[in-house]
Amino acid sequence: MAKNKLQTVNGDVPVESLGLMLPHEHLFVDLRGPQVAGYGEGEPEMVARLLLPALRAAEAAGVTALVECSTIGVGRNMRVLRHLAQLTSIHIIAPTGVYREAYIPAALRDMSAEALADLWVKELTEGIEDTGVRAGFIKIAMSDDGPTPLEERSLKAAARASRETGAVIASHTIGGRAARRELDVLETAGLDLGRFIWVHAHTEPDMAVQVEAARRGAWLEFDAIGAANWFPEQSRLVDFTVNLLDAGYGGQVLLSHDAGWYEPGQPEGRPPDGVRGYTALVDEFLPALRARGVDEGIVRQLTHDNPARAFSL
Ligand SMILES: [Zn+2]
Repeated sequence: MAKNKLQTVNGDVPVESLGLMLPHEHLFVDLRGPQVAGYGEGEPEMVARLLLPALRAAEAAGVTALVECSTIGVGRNMRVLRHLAQLTSIHIIAPTGVYREAYIPAALRDMSAEALADLWVKELTEGIEDTGVRAGFIKIAMSDDGPTPLEERSLKAAARASRETGAVIASHTIGGRAARRELDVLETAGLDLGRFIWVHAHTEPDMAVQVEAARRGAWLEFDAIGAANWFPEQSRLVDFTVNLLDAGYGGQVLLSHDAGWYEPGQPEGRPPDGVRGYTALVDEFLPALRARGVDEGIVRQLTHDNPARAFSL
């Protein structure tokens, strides 16, 4: 595999050509679960109608690439992603993987870790379903008190697929207790933790626990930017970022909004609180970081270099 490229929905993109990149967003999400009738269905044109204003605003804010984190079980829809990728200059990266236990489709529950890894490797190296589009990373998720045994299987499969392809693993993980257990499983499986992203690391309020994960080599992703009603408040996300910079781990921090998205089952696909856009990082968070003395070189590292390195293959 060639070095230093992203595998996007429209094909390979050299990381040198990228500017600002959002490592955790959503375009299309179905949280009703894969057992529900109509799961994951949506007309690409309707999705585009809902999301284009947000995508245009992101383009204007300088966003050049966006990682779609809705994986198998929570609505991954390649028809939609391919359509959107035609309409925007923003490179879209699609995942392989599965979400947490409650969302794992029946057909994938009885597979061994090895068989699951084979499926994911196929999606990373050959293509997803019959699209010929290759996944660009592995997205998994842990239950809040996890990992459960089935989620340990996801971790082992992810470690195996990552070792084989170089793809990064991004795992939804609430709090440091689950993160520690997950890092232990991945280390035992032989993964270099530099290929692991602790998604939602801001849910751990103890900054010492965050630093401990960074010391072990993991990426920490603070991905609630602009989500004013979520825990913790936005100023804490700034504190967490500055703390990791001060501790010498600025090269392992990722920043994103976890925003979007079209939601099947809602009228016109509009989420109950409306579509949340992808520009609070540029409009609000980076100015707050600069006000804390963070210089442009570091801003660039956090928003350009880090995500490009994390997701490069
Ligand atoms: Zn998310």
